[in-house]
Amino acid sequence: MSRTVRNYVNGDWQDAAAAPTLPVHDPATGELLAQCPDSGGDDVGAAVTAARDAFDEWRSTPVLARAQYMHHFKVLVEENFEEISRIVVREHGKTIDEARGEVRRGIESIDFAISVPVLMRSDGLEDISSGIDETTVRQPAGVFAAITPFNFPFMVPLWFLPTAITCGNTFILKPSPQTPLSTEFLFELLHELDLPEGVVNLVNGGVPSATALMEHPEVTGVSFVGSSAVAKIIYETCTRNGKRVQAQGGAKNYIAVMPDANIEASVKNILGAAYGCAGQRCLAAAVAVGVGDAYDALKAELAKQVASLKVGYGLEETTQMGTVISEAAKTRIEAMIGQSEADGAEVLIDGRNYRVEGYEEGAWVGPTLIADVQPATAMAQEEVFGPVLALMKADSFGEAVAMINQSRYGNAASIFTNNGKQAREFKYSVKAGNIGVNIGVAAPSASFPFGGQKDSFFGDLHGQGMDSIEFFTERKIVIERWV
Ligand code: NAD
Repeated sequence: MSRTVRNYVNGDWQDAAAAPTLPVHDPATGELLAQCPDSGGDDVGAAVTAARDAFDEWRSTPVLARAQYMHHFKVLVEENFEEISRIVVREHGKTIDEARGEVRRGIESIDFAISVPVLMRSDGLEDISSGIDETTVRQPAGVFAAITPFNFPFMVPLWFLPTAITCGNTFILKPSPQTPLSTEFLFELLHELDLPEGVVNLVNGGVPSATALMEHPEVTGVSFVGSSAVAKIIYETCTRNGKRVQAQGGAKNYIAVMPDANIEASVKNILGAAYGCAGQRCLAAAVAVGVGDAYDALKAELAKQVASLKVGYGLEETTQMGTVISEAAKTRIEAMIGQSEADGAEVLIDGRNYRVEGYEEGAWVGPTLIADVQPATAMAQEEVFGPVLALMKADSFGEAVAMINQSRYGNAASIFTNNGKQAREFKYSVKAGNIGVNIGVAAPSASFPFGGQKDSFFGDLHGQGMDSIEFFTERKIVIERWV
């Protein structure tokens, strides 16, 4: 019998009222790790009530005191760094080094929240009229919720929770039911902080709990990270229910490689971008576009380097690439490789039917390289979210930019070049929210907003950076005259 993960409501661990559960597997061994409850409206209602009741006391807790909780939180995460990283590997299947990178990035978001006493300050002006002063104050806005994906189970919740509560809001997290164990541990650490009851709450589940959060009248705003199809649903449902919303979606990220680039060094970088986390990153390189003469050299060097990747169990330190999240994901990814082959592309390195000795039950897809992918096919247009890199050819820089800009996604794009003018033109004209120049994964650090355009983002204010301060606060204008 496996245990069922519990919700965290009003400062305590509670069994979900809803009976159905969803299995959580180690995707490399197939071991059943736990059951995740599929919480429903009652569970969400209890969490929202707790968060609402906690709000008044929490918002009047001095902001420096709120930031002190984050100092303590950071210490606890640092002290438990290795254990958290191991939990991420077990439930997700990525490598231990990738998990450590994820936890480090999460800590950077806590660091950002520690700066809230500075970032929340506002401005004012004396004598806007004779003897009249006008100022702006930022105030916390109420109860916020986040709905997060499986692929960075520890880091993505930290894009939102620390800043939201340090701004004085109360918070409810609904993580992915595929990976609830990292967030369970996160809440064990939050429990140690002795925050007032109801400031942070955890509701585990899938669609019913997400929907109940979006429809609850006492939830002020929702942060979402996940696929574009769901991001659109979240945006529409939240706006229909009068909530503020930031919905970060999926991606199809292109990398243009110019003939003047150092091919060997570029490929080393592209390799990490395409196959890191087995391609399950919203910033993963999905398409490498070789411009002119770069195409053949890129193809040869990629084939050489991809073949040398060591795939295996994430907890083994020498492993360079782990599993995908589930058997269902493996089946979907393999079907997309097959479709690409049927569409006339050349599968140069085929990761289908991949086996890792000793882990026969694992959801393995080997690193896959597909050449001569045509622009109109699904492999060029749809998100695979697996270890598959498509190679495309462009005759010119302009054609490469046009290929990128016709995509319905706009999460990230990179260029590898030694030509500053072309790099500048790329930054200027490419329609994507995160741009890399000689960088494979253009991941914004915590004090910058996480870009995303077109179908990769729905909303106005992005996650992270000053956008998150705007999102989690309400501005009030005060005009005063004293006689
Ligand atoms: P997903 O969209 O399937 O699920 C994300 C969250 O939404 C989960 O908590 C899930 O339970 C919930 N959900 C699913 N269907 C829903 C529905 N109909 N209504 C309400 N909630 C629903 O995404 P995933 O498979 O967990 O994560 C992978 C996706 O996330 C990829 O597309 C990836 O590109 C994207 N992603 C984007 C970013 C970014 O910053 N733009 C970052 C990480 C991942």
